[in-house]
This record gives sequence, C-alpha cells and structure tokens, in this order.
Amino acid sequence: MNFSFSDEQELLRKNTARFLEKNLKPYVRDIDAKGEIPAEFFRNAGENGIISPLIKQKYGGPSLSFMDSVIISEEIAKVDTSMATSVYYLLNTSWAYVLQKYGKQELKDKLLPEIASGNQFIGIASTEPSGGSDVANITTSGTVNNGKVIINGEKMYISGALEAKNNGGGHLTLVKTDKEKGHRGITMVYVPASAKGIEITKLENMGRMGISTAGIKYDNVEVPEENIIGEINEGFYYSMDGFNHARIMVAAACNGLSEKMLEEGLGYIKERKAFGKPLSDFQAISFEAADLKTEIEMASLLNYKAAYLADVDDPEFYIYSSMSKLKSPQIAMDTVKKVMMWFGAYGYTKDSGIEMSARGIFSYLVGAEGALNIMKMIIAKAILK
Ligand SMILES: Cc1cc2nc3c(=O)[nH]c(=O)nc-3n(C[C@H](O)[C@H](O)[C@H](O)COP(=O)(O)OP(=O)(O)OC[C@H]3O[C@@H](n4cnc5c(N)ncnc54)[C@H](O)[C@@H]3O)c2cc1C
Repeated sequence: MNFSFSDEQELLRKNTARFLEKNLKPYVRDIDAKGEIPAEFFRNAGENGIISPLIKQKYGGPSLSFMDSVIISEEIAKVDTSMATSVYYLLNTSWAYVLQKYGKQELKDKLLPEIASGNQFIGIASTEPSGGSDVANITTSGTVNNGKVIINGEKMYISGALEAKNNGGGHLTLVKTDKEKGHRGITMVYVPASAKGIEITKLENMGRMGISTAGIKYDNVEVPEENIIGEINEGFYYSMDGFNHARIMVAAACNGLSEKMLEEGLGYIKERKAFGKPLSDFQAISFEAADLKTEIEMASLLNYKAAYLADVDDPEFYIYSSMSKLKSPQIAMDTVKKVMMWFGAYGYTKDSGIEMSARGIFSYLVGAEGALNIMKMIIAKAILK
C-alpha cells in the first residue's frame, strides 16, 4: 500500500493550483454575485487539460486518471469555495467519461474534442418534476423512429442548462423507451441544449450561483439516432455508472472545500483573541479543530480509495464512491459551520465568504448527484446481499 501521490500527480496539483490562483481566484466573488462563470475560464482550463481530464488524447484530452481528476477537483474547490466551478467540472468530467465509454464513434468524434477544449459543456438530465431518487419511474418519453429519437416530457433541477444553451453543449438525457419495463426501459440520449422544441426555465437557487439549475421541457424534440448512448433500454445502467463516478468528484470537491475552510479557520483562531488569549488556547475550540482535521483526513482517504478502485476498474468501487458521497458533504457542512462560529459575527457577513460556501455545500446534502439516504440504500444493499 502506497500512501503518496506520484511526482506527476504532485506536479499536477501544483500546476492546477497555480493556474486557478491566476485564472479563477480573482473572479470568485463576481461569479457568486453575477451568477456566471466567464466562458473564457472554461477555454483556458481546457487548454490546460483540467476541464474534462478523463478524455483521451485521441479526442484532444489529457487522458488522466480518476485519481488525477480527484486532485483537480480538490484544488478547484479550494479556490472557488462557492462550489460553482466544482459542479461544472465534475459534470463535464463524469458525463464525458460516460459518452467516451458508451457513445457512438461519430458522436464521440464530434463532441469530445469540444468538451476537452472547454468549448462545450456536457451534463446529465435525469431528474423530473415528480422526483429524482426514483430514476426507474421517469416519464419523459423517447420514441425511436426513422433514424430519429423524438422526445417529449420534462426534466427538473438540471445543472448547466443555461451554460449549454449559451456556450454550447447539452445533456445526456434519460428517456423512457419502454413504459412497461421500469429501469430496463430507459435509454440515454445526448440532447443538445440548442435542439428545436426545448424550453429552458432557470430556477433561483440558494447557492453555487455560478452554474445554472433549470427545468427543461421537451416538445417533440428530435435528435438523430446516433445520439443514443450505447444500446436502447440500457440507459439506466450507464447513468448509474456516471453517477457512481461523479460521486467521487463531488466528495473530492467537498474535501477540498473542507481543507480550505479549516486552513482559514486555524489561521483565524491563532490570531483572534478573547479573554486575553488566542481562541486556539481554549480547548473547546482546539478540540473542534482536532475533530475536523481527523474527519477531513478520513474523508479524503476514503475518497482516494474510491478513485483508486475506479482506476483499477474494481466492480465494488461504487460502494466506496457512495460512502464518500455520504460522508464528505456532511463533513464539509460541519467544517463550514464550525469555522463560521469561530469567526463569530464576522463569519456571518458576506464579506467573510463563509456563507457562500454554506450555500454551495447544501446542494450536496439535499440531493445533487444523489440524496444522502439513497447513498445509504446503495451501501446497505451492497453489504447485506
Ligand atoms: C443544486 C442541484 C443540482 C442538481 N442538478 C441535477 C442535474 O444536473 N441533473 C439531474 O438529473 N438532477 C439534478 N439534481 C436533482 C438531484 O439529482 C435530485 O435532487 C436527487 O436525485 C433527489 O431527488 P429529489 O430532489 O426529487 O428528491 P426526492 O427523490 O423526492 O427525495 C426527497 C427526500 O426523500 C429521501 N428519500 C427518497 N427515497 C427514499 C427512500 N426510499 N428511503 C429513505 N429516504 C428516501 C431523499 O433522501 C430526499 O431526502 C440537482 C439537484 C440539486 C439540489
């Protein structure tokens, strides 16, 4: 067992941090205030190979591993602590992975170079107004006819809908192609946001303001059959593969944020004085710091194990990615909350930036990339079988 990163991975971390310090850090507050990440950032990140790092070199990507992708995810979250850029990154990374693994050659040749270069976005459209956890019961329909798929229905809470519409891109969309067959009747189709018959309605979120979440209505939307990912009626399985990998990236982002928050908190409690001594001299506070450090370390190790298992294609990796997605958002929320309390009243101001992280991290507690109870269901089913 080797607990250290390779020299190449250390260099990747260093170069990513340096790139983000220059190209992202100065704009983070603006991104949160204006609700938009500048498209130029995506292209710059694409040029630096960190916008969708699993894409293979033959499609213009850097061919990095899941472990490498985790390193990038951690570094992004340390800089954009609102989580918006992390969300864009993890969707682009995980769903490009699914396209690359299961998509038809023509579609891959067309889209993957655009995604790798930061010109186009790719996300997932699974959730519907009636719910997100029960994927098998989606009702958006897909009719395959005459070389086309015709889509009717509605998706909800879809991340990156406006980015795809404005900058280019689309979503791997789950549609029912056989109503009688539950999860075995679901097909995954790539639907560009520019397709005729699509209506996008932005939702006002509480956090991660730089990436949109929207409802998407499909009124006889037609896409060519080549946009079907893999086989008809196999889409549920491809989506689970994607979610399992995306959860590793979510947890990595949460861990990166936790680490950054704790670092800021430690700096503060060593300086801030009460009753004539630094806050860190009070055990009530230093013990909290010790607990947080321990929990963040545990969360990171679990996440690295999940990424390692994904890299070696271990069929049990999904259990670890679910455990990681279960714990890391909770630890991040706890870290943000405790650090905010250490900062006292200043922590509650917008100026401190801590509330921005609290708003962002909540998305991973309520549901994005799978609700926490769903993670527990997956883990329980695996260990009880
Ligand atoms: C910011 C944000 C961005 C999102 N982006 C996307 C996206 O890009 N694409 C996409 O497809 N979806 C997206 N989603 C939706 C997300 O996938 C769903 O929120 C998630 O799947 C949960 O679905 P739901 O919100 O409908 O909650 P529900 O499925 O209605 O569940 C509500 C609550 O009940 C619990 N619950 C459900 N079933 C059970 C059970 N059997 N036992 C115990 N508890 C249960 C859940 O844990 C949850 O707490 C996003 C959500 C958010 C918040």
